[in-house]
Amino acid sequence: MEARAKSSGTPYPIWVYGEYLTEPPKRPNGALRPVGHYIDKGGYPGANVYAVDISTLCKGTAAVDGRGSRIYTQDILLHEAEDEIGYFVVEDEETAVDVVWGEIVALGRLQAGDISIVGNTVDYPDFIEGMRYHVENGLNVPYLPSLDVMATPLPFLKMTCLKCGYVTLGCCYVARHKDCGGFFTMDFATKIYRKGEKEKAFA
Ligand SMILES: [Zn+2]
Repeated sequence: MEARAKSSGTPYPIWVYGEYLTEPPKRPNGALRPVGHYIDKGGYPGANVYAVDISTLCKGTAAVDGRGSRIYTQDILLHEAEDEIGYFVVEDEETAVDVVWGEIVALGRLQAGDISIVGNTVDYPDFIEGMRYHVENGLNVPYLPSLDVMATPLPFLKMTCLKCGYVTLGCCYVARHKDCGGFFTMDFATKIYRKGEKEKAFA
């Protein structure tokens, strides 16, 4: 099964993509590995195998996003329609759930061109809670084309604590302000525009 999971035998957990194995594969020298969960990245048999933390396992689905990236379970998808945005979390190989409204949709019903993978609930476990807080308090859901802007052309995230007003910049989504426990709302250090929005803004 095609999957990804976080490595468990490395100093820092990293995402490993490949074939998920429940039978421990032998090392290239023939030695046995202990019982556990593994992902084989492929190549020379037994050489690119990582022990993984099973609680972080995400299964590959048949769906891709607008950039052609394969969608995995637990991925957070930004859905951009004409005038509204929303987020879905991929529940299993077939279904996704609307983060705010709880509606369950078939993954295959989402148009690839309307969705982009912005992160996942393993790296951002409190994303859903953060977005729901916005809706419950009558605030607009933040537009976040990526929850980690580091490897993107996006500017830094500007996070404003909704409880104490503290403002900070960062490269990764954070749901709550540590010092006071309040939720952050966010936009970007410099204005970014959605598809078609810039043309409208400068028309
Ligand atoms: Zn605060």
